[in-house]
Amino acid sequence: MSGIVFSNITKRFGQTVAVESLNLEIAEGEFVALVGPSGCGKTTSLRMLAGLEDVSEGQIFVDGRDVTNLGPSERDLAMVFQNYALYPHMTVAGNIGFSLQLSGLGRDALNDRVKNAADLLGIGHLLDRRPKQLSGGQRQRVAVARCIVRQPAAFLFDEPLSNLDAKLRGTARVEIAKLQKNLGITTLYVTHDQVEAMTMADRVVLMEGGRIRQAGTPMDLYHHPKDLFVATFLGMPPMNLLKAEVANVSGAPVLRWGAMNLELPGVATGAVTLGLRPERLVAGHVDGVALAFSGHVSHVERLGAETLVEFRLESGSASALTARLPGTRTIQIGEHISVSAPLDALHVFDETGAAVAT
Ligand code: ATP
Repeated sequence: MSGIVFSNITKRFGQTVAVESLNLEIAEGEFVALVGPSGCGKTTSLRMLAGLEDVSEGQIFVDGRDVTNLGPSERDLAMVFQNYALYPHMTVAGNIGFSLQLSGLGRDALNDRVKNAADLLGIGHLLDRRPKQLSGGQRQRVAVARCIVRQPAAFLFDEPLSNLDAKLRGTARVEIAKLQKNLGITTLYVTHDQVEAMTMADRVVLMEGGRIRQAGTPMDLYHHPKDLFVATFLGMPPMNLLKAEVANVSGAPVLRWGAMNLELPGVATGAVTLGLRPERLVAGHVDGVALAFSGHVSHVERLGAETLVEFRLESGSASALTARLPGTRTIQIGEHISVSAPLDALHVFDETGAAVAT
């Protein structure tokens, strides 16, 4: 098969199992983001694919070729490192064209390819500069140009935007995503930033403790998290969580929270955690809407386009909720607020943290 396959890959560093039985297929042309908290094994997975780390068990295939025991230069992969790893003594042109030079490509063809790659990244006017004469954003583009000039089987990115300021990160992620789509090159992108993973990738693979927690389209993971870990890792501000109880009422499971009683057919009785994303809460009580909450505002964060409103719930509960409301609404700390949400906004997790079908 074309693309990349991790087949039952395990990596141990002494007693530490960094990656455990990783099975992942990346289709040709697909953009997959590996995301997860620090130490989850994402960088180690990428480095094993690049050939920079041996595997303890399993096999890795690139376009159907078993590359498990091949050196990095034999894998036909191009990697953008977090620190870009540019050669300081070479010009931008020298950096971009270095791998082509090694491959013995003629001078004119090489210059053409370097110029095309540089133009594509908007750095065609910087070819004679050295890395220290460039801004961070320009260096990052040189690193990407150096990858695309080789026309490799796949791109590997290791946190390529983490050294840029927030604004530049925003534009760079759009540029890289567009470039990848235009070139159609298979891509594995490692990041701890959920926004990068969600906005850039066709598919997000969320890892924790060396294992895949959930893999799917960004919308799949966001709207249908399979457990509390996935639900709270994605989304900013994070999903609101409330403790509740599903009780047996005349033989039917009924979710009880405050004055609410909702029948949840097929759900086991016991303690549950309710999840509601802040943007699903709307101000005021809406007729026919199943979920209603009210309380006093304890904190307000004005972001311009929207306002994040935290309020302490009434009915003796110590819980607070955050609502993401339109920025046009003025709201003060201490104010009384009512919000509601449709039933399909409600996530229910059982005692083990697994999502319960509702
Ligand atoms: P981060 O976002 O912090 O880079 P990560 O998800 O990329 O984290 P890895 O760097 O892959 O995680 O590390 C996974 C686990 O393997 C961690 O427990 C880490 O301490 C361990 N580890 C990684 N590299 C080595 C190494 N060279 N020697 C020993 N342990 C290592």
